[in-house]
Amino acid sequence: MGDDGREDPVTRGAAPRRTAPILKALALSLAAVVLLGGCGSAATKAGPGADASGGVAATGAATKAPSAARTPKMPRPTPAATTTGSTASGGAGKGAASATTVVFVDVGQGDATVIKSGSWTGLIDGGPPGSEPAIEAALAKLGVRRLSAVVVSHMHTDHTGGLPHIVSEWRPRTAYAAGTPTSALAGALRGAGATVVQVRRGAGLRFGAARAEVLSPAGLSGDANGDSVVLRLEAGGKSFLFTGDCTGPNEAAVGRLCARGPPIDVLKVAHHGSRYSTTSAFLAETRPSVAVICVGPNSYGHPTPATVGRLLAAGSRVHTTWKNGSITFKVSATGAMSVSFGRSSQPVKKATAAGGGGGGGASSGAAAGAASSRASGDTIVYITWTGECYHVDGCRYLSSSRIPIALKDARGKYRPCSVCDPPR
Ligand SMILES: [Zn+2]
Ligand SMILES: [Zn+2]
Repeated sequence: MGDDGREDPVTRGAAPRRTAPILKALALSLAAVVLLGGCGSAATKAGPGADASGGVAATGAATKAPSAARTPKMPRPTPAATTTGSTASGGAGKGAASATTVVFVDVGQGDATVIKSGSWTGLIDGGPPGSEPAIEAALAKLGVRRLSAVVVSHMHTDHTGGLPHIVSEWRPRTAYAAGTPTSALAGALRGAGATVVQVRRGAGLRFGAARAEVLSPAGLSGDANGDSVVLRLEAGGKSFLFTGDCTGPNEAAVGRLCARGPPIDVLKVAHHGSRYSTTSAFLAETRPSVAVICVGPNSYGHPTPATVGRLLAAGSRVHTTWKNGSITFKVSATGAMSVSFGRSSQPVKKATAAGGGGGGGASSGAAAGAASSRASGDTIVYITWTGECYHVDGCRYLSSSRIPIALKDARGKYRPCSVCDPPR
């Protein structure tokens, strides 16, 4: 603990040398773009707001136009997260043999994810107000004594509510964000001496033995959810996609980027399972093996049956923090992945609303199998006003609306529901 190593000596009195680091940052950004398969968007790494004169990082300064006094922080030998050359080169660093742990902390209706990779520790979002004890318990359980970095996906209270306290107590060196921190958070970051780094699509970040790539946003649209920081984290050959509350065109762009690479192993489902995110196209492009929905009791109907249904139809194993409690993934250096749960280990198997299928431990597959025989085009199936699947009568998807349609008309336009398994 203490103030050891918090100030990078390079940032002190380095103004005469500022040109070289800026060029280097540019080159690294370009390399990160290449790494993403040439997504065409320039990586933006706003200069960290290190105050060269006072020796105290100026939180929020990075959101302003870069000035001569600010120089990008150089890569450092400690595991602090920076944009480093090793991200682009893919070279095996000293931390390459470390295991990586990802904990989706059960904070109710909100997001908070702890990542530990070697001695590097980060937190993506801080849950709603009142999440602090759960997050601190997760950090303590991992033996964390101080955060290396926080990532703030966007400035909504179900993602930032616990952050002022966590930042004050666990004093991250760096905060990654896309957008201006709320005043309470900005104050805490300033007090902790954290450097705020604005990230944009194409930026590569080193998280201990893991590396993260920023897939979104490319710029700010003004829609906080849509502008969420989306990260693809790779550790031991396994990939995690952290989406915040991303939606709309930015989600579509993330899907297109992911379509170029291997399937995602673990998807943090966007926006607590809102029906307006996690489209079928996005799932076809990301191909997640496991989907984690961070959600708790709420008045929005999250997770929506439509989104859970799309995940199940895509073949994902679905877990929610509401049903399963905190969910912990461990990836060994060789890529072996294990998962453990604070509560039940049962995945969600039905597209119900409250509790993410909390009561639905029983498998629906066997009973539904009877309906899967081939049928003629005259067969009537059922759709809903908002869903993307068709169903047999009696499917629980049809609780809100039930619109008969000929099977021959449903084919192609709708997908067969994976829960009730209607005729094809
Ligand atoms: Zn939001
Ligand atoms: Zn949210």
